[in-house]
Amino acid sequence: MLLRSCVHAVREAADSILSVILAPACAACTEPLAHPTRGPVCARCWQAVLPLTPPICDRCGEPLPSWRLLDVPLCPRCHRTDVAVDRARAVGAYDGALRAIIHAIKYDARRSLARPLGELMRTRGAAVLSNAVCAVPVPLHPSRRRARGFNQAADLARQLGVPVVAALRRVEATRPQTGLPAAERHRNVRRAFAVTRAGRLLPGAVVVLVDDVATTGATLEACARVLKDSGVAEVRALTAARVVGRVRND
Ligand SMILES: [Zn+2]
Ligand SMILES: [Zn+2]
Repeated sequence: MLLRSCVHAVREAADSILSVILAPACAACTEPLAHPTRGPVCARCWQAVLPLTPPICDRCGEPLPSWRLLDVPLCPRCHRTDVAVDRARAVGAYDGALRAIIHAIKYDARRSLARPLGELMRTRGAAVLSNAVCAVPVPLHPSRRRARGFNQAADLARQLGVPVVAALRRVEATRPQTGLPAAERHRNVRRAFAVTRAGRLLPGAVVVLVDDVATTGATLEACARVLKDSGVAEVRALTAARVVGRVRND
């Protein structure tokens, strides 16, 4: 008890000194951080990362306009088409604070944020993770991986409490999906992935694909197809965010 209050006091002191001397800004909202020792994003921004509200499509996780229809709630696309991703979920919509946090990880290399964000994925994605044998990060092409220095999907996957298996590799450097319309995105990534040697050891398994953002789902779908072709029984997907309702050019 005494130790805990000591640690608290030291932390408070460090926070006041750091916030005055260095005046670090929140990596998401750019307001000065009151508690810099608690990480580069302020508590208000984390609280603003809201879950997607039901009803959502049981398969892809897209929010649905209402409960009417609905024995098994499915969005029109999942009703219509045969998809390889059996179940996809996200922490929240790709917007506001969540989008800013993801940008901070990817474009400002604030990799320490992958831990709290991954923990949020672990909590909100518990149903997707349950009885999965491993998490499979969506790979970057080696040239992009080299340029960025890390793969944010792998950083997030390490926080999920299941083994991480690099089951996929990127065989074609695709154009960035950013700015492409949905049909183009599917075409762009269709043959972009192959299963690695480790990935061939997963026949009959339930695996969870992990990525930072699902935009149209084209990348996840392409990954899921090659995994299933190599014998994986069930492919689920867990992302930090998903674009809701429409394709954003981002
Ligand atoms: Zn903030
Ligand atoms: Zn759906």
